[in-house]
Amino acid sequence: MEPAVKCTDVRFAYEEAEVITGLDMTVEKGEYIAIVGRNGSGKSTIARHMNALLVPTKGSVVVFGMDTKTESNVLPIRSRASMVFQNPDNQIVASVVEEDVAFGPENLGVPTAELRRRVDDALAIVDMAEFALRAPHELSGGQKQRVAIAGVLAMQPDMVIFDEPTSMLDPEGRASVLAAMDTLHERGITVLHITHAMEEALRADRMIVISDGKAVMSGNPETLFAEKGEELIALGLDLPPLMQLSHALKALGIDGSAGISVEEMVEKLCR
Ligand code: ADP
Repeated sequence: MEPAVKCTDVRFAYEEAEVITGLDMTVEKGEYIAIVGRNGSGKSTIARHMNALLVPTKGSVVVFGMDTKTESNVLPIRSRASMVFQNPDNQIVASVVEEDVAFGPENLGVPTAELRRRVDDALAIVDMAEFALRAPHELSGGQKQRVAIAGVLAMQPDMVIFDEPTSMLDPEGRASVLAAMDTLHERGITVLHITHAMEEALRADRMIVISDGKAVMSGNPETLFAEKGEELIALGLDLPPLMQLSHALKALGIDGSAGISVEEMVEKLCR
């Protein structure tokens, strides 16, 4: 099967210095991937290569079989791979929620009945149907971010790239956006989630670790945190809080090993 994304020896420089330095990475269709790495490691730059906002200086990025370097591929790639950014305020364009969600497909000339159906579906998926007629500025950060996700869904993408979508949100907003991301994944959409929150990375099927503009590790997040903790810390990452606790307990000779939920950990410790 053709992968969703295939990056081969990708190199990219904004000015002189290369910030992407030989990235090899494949994302299969339907995968939920977390991309992690210390600040400045190149995550956002990589994200922008996934829908042809940036193109490599050398090497290739092929999205759903289309090379991002070929000019005529750019629009077809963007119609299948959409991005959601950190700040929801920068992504909202209309003064009524449902008009905002309709904005993208309307510009593509989607007929009215189909447009209505897409907007209603998209708002339902992110659990925002009851806010359809509200003004975006009345909403919380998490609600606005879910409107932004609905706007992307109304374009019927096959992949959504999230660049730190929860970093400006309160805990409730974060939880609601993460739940919406799970729903996209359940519906078969490929999800790429750039995050600096390790407990968020645990939700993914696979975690890709970026260091100095390259992918240096890839695997199941729970397994990587449990088995490669020291290396991840050396790469400038934290461990998820519960994993930190279990490592600290292990140092004291107590096996609370690598539970990822509080319940699981209590069970292991008290058994
Ligand atoms: P991350 O998302 O992991 O924090 P970025 O992709 O934002 O990393 O940045 C990677 C490197 O590229 C950093 O050194 C950063 O300073 C540099 N960089 C990012 N955006 C630009 C830009 N628009 N112009 C010049 N340098 C940039």
